[in-house]
Amino acid sequence: MIMKILPRTQFGNPILRAKARKVSLNFLKTAKGKALIKNMIHTMRRSGGVGLAAPQIGESLRIAVMEIRTTPDRPKTKHQGPIVVVNPVIKEYSKDTVLGWEGCLSIMSIRGQVSRSNSVTVEYHNEDGKKVIEKASGLWARIFQHEIDHLNGVGYFDRIRDTKTIMTRSEFKKRVMKKK
Ligand code: ZN
Repeated sequence: MIMKILPRTQFGNPILRAKARKVSLNFLKTAKGKALIKNMIHTMRRSGGVGLAAPQIGESLRIAVMEIRTTPDRPKTKHQGPIVVVNPVIKEYSKDTVLGWEGCLSIMSIRGQVSRSNSVTVEYHNEDGKKVIEKASGLWARIFQHEIDHLNGVGYFDRIRDTKTIMTRSEFKKRVMKKK
């Protein structure tokens, strides 16, 4: 199968503000469904993202892909994924929260700090339609929360409490990434 980089939607496009449609598990078995998932993973990797939700590539479907890769920016982060998350529901949020930096492939120019639950229990179906119950913590839990927000038309910046902490990508690189 030839992999394609899918055109990405950007905030301003109403699809990113809509509640995405539930996916029929039969769709995952179709050539179209399989191609969509392959191409979403490929697009996430090529874009340097750790997650990508279907509305971000113009499909209003409750599907997201996630993968953490060890990169020069994240040398100590352990590789996780890729996973395919279909019709996810967060069943439990930890009471302890952590403030962390987020960015988004649909609004590339800014970075902001968002408070998220440190761990979450998520129920979803994988690419084979199998039900998975996963307890995630740290960055992995943050990505789940960010991607599931996308399926509900929410951007991470909607959750920034102190908008004065917002930075452009280039200032973030100079001021935050260098210090890590
Ligand atoms: Zn995003």
